[in-house]
Amino acid sequence: MIAFEQLRVKTPKREVLINITSDINKIVRNSKIKEGVCRIFVPHTTAGITINENADPAVMEDIINYLKKLIPQRAGFSHMEGNSDAHIKSSLTGPSLDVIIHNGGLVLGTWQGIMFAEYDGPRHRKVYVQVQGE
Ligand code: ZN
Repeated sequence: MIAFEQLRVKTPKREVLINITSDINKIVRNSKIKEGVCRIFVPHTTAGITINENADPAVMEDIINYLKKLIPQRAGFSHMEGNSDAHIKSSLTGPSLDVIIHNGGLVLGTWQGIMFAEYDGPRHRKVYVQVQGE
């Protein structure tokens, strides 16, 4: 069985990590698939998806702030749009994730959350979610 859904994420600022775990879990539960895999794909070149700590929001801030330090917005890039830093950060975190589904839910570590990564907001973003299994 395969289910497909599109999730919309409204990002509040230029760079931010947003915990979308509960939205993804809702899609998995709605699919009624008990065992399988959940594929999450971000169709944007200046955003990404990653799994990291869900408990202390300071971790997400530290990740964003350190990426900013590593890849400054203005660093003499060629790209005319002026958002090459966002493109580079997007490639670092990548566009997709696979998460195991067991007993009808996502299998994640206690402290793990699925984070949508915005690098060139605020924007309205899309996340494609495919749930495959039985
Ligand atoms: Zn661009």
